Amino acid sequence: MAPATDDDLAALAALRAEVEACTLCELHATRTRAVPGEGDPASDLMFVGEAPGYHEDQQGRPFVGQAGKLLEQLLASIGLTREQVFIANVLKSRPPNNRDPRPEEIAACQPYLWRQIELIKPKVICTLGNHATKLLTGDPAGITRVHGRPQATAISGHSLYLYPIFHPAAALYTPAMLTTLKEDFLRLPELLAHAAPQSGAAAPPAPAEPGPSPEQPGPPADTVTAAPAGAAGDAPEVTCPDAADAPPAKPEQLGLF
Ligand code: URA
Repeated sequence: MAPATDDDLAALAALRAEVEACTLCELHATRTRAVPGEGDPASDLMFVGEAPGYHEDQQGRPFVGQAGKLLEQLLASIGLTREQVFIANVLKSRPPNNRDPRPEEIAACQPYLWRQIELIKPKVICTLGNHATKLLTGDPAGITRVHGRPQATAISGHSLYLYPIFHPAAALYTPAMLTTLKEDFLRLPELLAHAAPQSGAAAPPAPAEPGPSPEQPGPPADTVTAAPAGAAGDAPEVTCPDAADAPPAKPEQLGLF
């Protein structure tokens, strides 16, 4: 992993201040604190959850409640700590009563996420659950169908793998989902080791396909209408508005796992 430059660190700090002062959607009126995200700004691995919950809203930090404890245990299972990765959310402010994010809220907030990705340049982004997965893949396919399968893509001209997995909060209450989440998580080191799509690294030998998974309750596809600019049909190029001239790259289902 390349160290973050001083310019990147300054840009991330400015972005954080912007998020903390953001009034672009109505959630600013009910939040206690905005939750910009935190972690190693030079990490190869980034996690994107849905939105802050009660504890995150109180502390201004992502994944500090029960779901966060599980995420930390999962990270420990592959020898990592939360300080070694970057953790962010689709929404930076808590929806009242933890309701689902609304399309207009996702639309207002998503430029912050694109800019974080542009600055952190992770090799792998783990999307946690339906909202993050649908937004970043630009595909309405639900997490139950796509979990555990890396997808090569480009965001803001930066090549990376999206790796959808179940949301830890959902897995807390569904043992079968927890088992699947743990299994998917254990494949992360292999993906990270080979995650150099921009340099055309050879794919590793294909381990066994993940087995059948439990259904995860999620929003109907049409509740997430804030697809990334440039997303169309089954070729969802994900772009940042100010990186519209980035070379296009089509996500593809990889034969890695
Ligand atoms: N769930 C999320 O999606 N994000 C958090 O930060 C905490 C719980």
